Amino acid sequence: MERGKILYLVVPCYNEEEVLPETSKRLREKMQSLIEKGKIAKDSKILFVNDGSKDRTWEMIEELHQKDAIYQGVKLSRNRGHQNALLGGLMTAKKYADMVISLDADLQDDIDAIDEFVEKYDKGCEIVYGVRSARKTDTFFKKFTAEGFYKLLHLMGGEVVFNHADYRLMSKRALEEMEKYQEVNLFLRGIVPMIGFQTDIVYYERHERLAGESKYPLKKMLALAIDGITSLSIKPIRLIVFLGMFIFVCSIAMLVYSLVQHFLGNTSIGWTSLIVSIWAIGGLQLLAIGVIGEYIGKIYLETKARPKYIIEKELR
Ligand code: UDP
Ligand code: MG
Repeated sequence: MERGKILYLVVPCYNEEEVLPETSKRLREKMQSLIEKGKIAKDSKILFVNDGSKDRTWEMIEELHQKDAIYQGVKLSRNRGHQNALLGGLMTAKKYADMVISLDADLQDDIDAIDEFVEKYDKGCEIVYGVRSARKTDTFFKKFTAEGFYKLLHLMGGEVVFNHADYRLMSKRALEEMEKYQEVNLFLRGIVPMIGFQTDIVYYERHERLAGESKYPLKKMLALAIDGITSLSIKPIRLIVFLGMFIFVCSIAMLVYSLVQHFLGNTSIGWTSLIVSIWAIGGLQLLAIGVIGEYIGKIYLETKARPKYIIEKELR
């Protein structure tokens, strides 16, 4: 059965005025060449999601939309972060599109991979993951932290595709299934593989940002990592349990040792071990409470079920 061919590109933008002119131009060229080749339908669109930018990003999206209807826009009521902006865009695009590709506004992800994404969709894939084959242009720090993040996630039991960020194609059907994941702490990279269906991978090289600075400073990356791990697995809590057991065994050994020392009459030499235990156990307890607190915080946020984003305006 022939599947629908309307493609929507979803591009979250936060303070991206520096890259938007170039990005919009390149994406439009890409879309037009695909339309000419008959790979995608004529009413395919580029959907920019303005994530509460403080610069002229939204005005630029409005201007683009006025000039050419291929550009569409969604304005969130305020900054909600990349994941939520992306979700807002995906859910909006889902209403009109047969397939949706998400990508960053800085075009670090090679847009020539889009052809392959669409080909795989034609072959029946519901989800196609873009995977970075090389990170030649990333700084050592970015590469190290990012790859460490995927490894840690995997170790903690998160089912993520290594070196795949949010550059992917999803069919309408996959998006409809994703909508059923109603959690507030939505970590897309971890949720998408849970959906299943026929999937495939497209490899591409990651480029440098077109212009401007990264909107993902270390602080946001750390928050994403912690959210990712705690929303995908409870392994950290289990690790604490094992740690607790280990400490318990140690304490029994210490008890035996102390009693032996007591009966041998060496009781005054206890200071070092005492101080060390106080600090070690105290630190461990704080850490354990902190990890458990992370999860309680998550439960707290989930029970409130607040909306993940609010759409203020839609340009169609
Ligand atoms: N972004 C967003 N909201 C935010 C932060 C970032 O929508 O609060 C967007 C940003 O405009 C870009 C994408 O998320 O399109 C990825 O950000 P960036 O390229 O700065 O991250 P990096 O590639 O450095 O990890
Ligand atoms: Mg980037």
